[in-house]
Amino acid sequence: EAVVELRGVTKTYPGDVHALRGVDLTVARGDLLAIVGPSGSGKSTMLHLIGTLDRPTTGTVLVTGHDVATLSDRQLSGLRSRTLGFVFQQFHLSPGVSALDNVADGLLYTGTGRRARRERAAEALERVGLGHRLGHRPSELSGGEQQRVAVARAVAGDPPLLLADEPTGNLDSHAGADVLAVLADLNESGTTVAVITHDAEIAGWCRRQVRLRDGLVVDGHEHDHLSPVE
Ligand code: ADP
Ligand code: ADP
Repeated sequence: EAVVELRGVTKTYPGDVHALRGVDLTVARGDLLAIVGPSGSGKSTMLHLIGTLDRPTTGTVLVTGHDVATLSDRQLSGLRSRTLGFVFQQFHLSPGVSALDNVADGLLYTGTGRRARRERAAEALERVGLGHRLGHRPSELSGGEQQRVAVARAVAGDPPLLLADEPTGNLDSHAGADVLAVLADLNESGTTVAVITHDAEIAGWCRRQVRLRDGLVVDGHEHDHLSPVE
């Protein structure tokens, strides 16, 4: 069953910029997928379409079976918050509050009470190996730890799909490997993960790769085994 399907998707920006020129992609439940390509190949555009942050020029985007073209902005934001967790290169944490509150505040949209939000946030921080850092503010955490807080916030509501856009871009290779290991752990426990990256080494670490070049998918292939970055 597909979490996301793109069918014949194009995206043209003003100025006749053809960012995507006819892309088909199925993200199946359980995938650990890399979308990889050089700068300007259309990765961010694809992320925005998969993430329902933007709509295609032509073609169809289905998210858990819902055609985004048929949904109002309000329905779309509801679908997005139920279905998708986002992690970006920048950690986007609130500097003034603890790791626990950063994650718990991400659950405000669910209407869950404060106590239950904090319990779920603590569980999510434990899943990313930060059970011992609940009270720390971002400034008291390393870059890798801050990104793991961002991952915890993205998965605290148990979204079926986690979208990570250059998640190791601001990290040294050791901290980057920790974050990738956390994403693989989450995938093992059932979360579908799509990583957007320009880095072939990071992509090689995902089970499945989709290569973009000049707005087209040029190659996708499967690996039998994970080969973590050392
Ligand atoms: P990548 O993420 O792989 O670097 P992008 O999706 O950001 O690729 O960009 C693909 C192409 O679309 C590039 O030529 C880029 O300059 C162009 N582009 C991206 N966003 C916009 C925009 N908002 N307006 C005009 N052109 C854009
Ligand atoms: P970049 O990697 O280009 O430096 P980011 O990774 O922070 O920037 O953001 C990528 C894109 O996603 C931007 O267009 C930004 O507006 C958007 N974005 C960032 N944070 C969020 C968010 N929490 N929810 C939705 N969209 C976001």
